Amino acid sequence: MSGRHFLQIPGPTNVPDRILRAIDAPTMDHRGPSFAALTRDILEHLPKIFKTEQPVLIFPASGTGAWEAALVNCLSPNDRVLMCETGQFASLWFHLAEKLGLSPQVIPTDWRRGADAAAIEERLREDTAHQIKAVCVVHNETSTGATSNIRAVREAIDRTGHPALLMVDTISSLASIDYRHDEWGVDVTVAGSQKGLMLPPGLSFNAISQKALATAEHATLPKAYWGWREILNANATGHFPYTPSTNLLYGLKTAVDMLLEEGLDSVFQRHARHAEATRTAVRAWGLEILCLEPAEYSNSLTAVLMPEGHDADQFRKTVLEHFDMSLGNGLGRLSGKVFRIGHLGDFNDLMLAGTLSGVEMGLKIAGIPYKVGGVQAALDYLASGSSPD
Ligand SMILES: *Cc1c(COP(=O)(O)O)cnc(C)c1O
Repeated sequence: MSGRHFLQIPGPTNVPDRILRAIDAPTMDHRGPSFAALTRDILEHLPKIFKTEQPVLIFPASGTGAWEAALVNCLSPNDRVLMCETGQFASLWFHLAEKLGLSPQVIPTDWRRGADAAAIEERLREDTAHQIKAVCVVHNETSTGATSNIRAVREAIDRTGHPALLMVDTISSLASIDYRHDEWGVDVTVAGSQKGLMLPPGLSFNAISQKALATAEHATLPKAYWGWREILNANATGHFPYTPSTNLLYGLKTAVDMLLEEGLDSVFQRHARHAEATRTAVRAWGLEILCLEPAEYSNSLTAVLMPEGHDADQFRKTVLEHFDMSLGNGLGRLSGKVFRIGHLGDFNDLMLAGTLSGVEMGLKIAGIPYKVGGVQAALDYLASGSSPD
């Protein structure tokens, strides 16, 4: 097929040409002085994306590695961990915690909303012996398109006076949806390279707090590759304890530069506008947005329910074959029931218009019942110059 593929899954996202050019450079000696200068530059500016003045650790790994790093650095065998099952990614983090020998406890949801801060508060109040060592929340649940209110979770924990750490997965929200590691008192923020950061997959991150670092000094789950202490010590001289993803770090420096040039507030506003335009189209098609709480609608993706009797994967296949566009599939219990439109990362009005056009034409070709006019409604919204809040 001629022209560019439309990669409209909610991660990996489209990598801008400027980042591709930065990555396309000779690999340098990762123990040499030029490399140390690059590391220092990244470690100085990257924390701004997390809105933190604490260290951010970089792993040569997918986001799953940073999930594991958060748990093994701060916790000990059999520790209780409170997790909110907002969808498939929260559920995967739960299973990872189980495999590591932790005792995760779940607050279930219907997979159509964010984490319930009041339920977290209640569980913590019941835990008078302070056996729960960490509360884990996925900020933006990529399987459902629901964003949790992390500030509300922090306030709920504070009201109980419970000492549990707060760990937040921002893999599909960082650099797309407002996030404040320090202000919201998060102890470990987990992030990945291939979503809002606009990089290829392969890097992931832990932003930490002084409390998390102090806890890590005596936590006893086995850890080697993921150990924070070794990484922090090496970072102090601009290095890493093992070979870092050199070329992805060139890309990371450029990604951070691009985000700070645009300004984080503008980045968030851009995502909010594209998300609202997408929802405008979905409503006009007469289809249902999976997330039930308007205050929790995700600005990085929209999950759309298929009408009864129609298979979302068949629809996605039609769109791929006719228009060379990838849409996100339904994950876990949502398999075949939803498709997901990614509208995050390096994205603009015309890319969104193309994406929504592909969806609307796909609905027609696949014989899905829908109302004509979603694309027009989205274009009208984009052209109106209005934006959410
Ligand atoms: C993509 C994603 C992950 C998984 O990250 P990998 O890079 O595939 O390991 C975890 N959590 C959320 C919220 C995600 O969107």
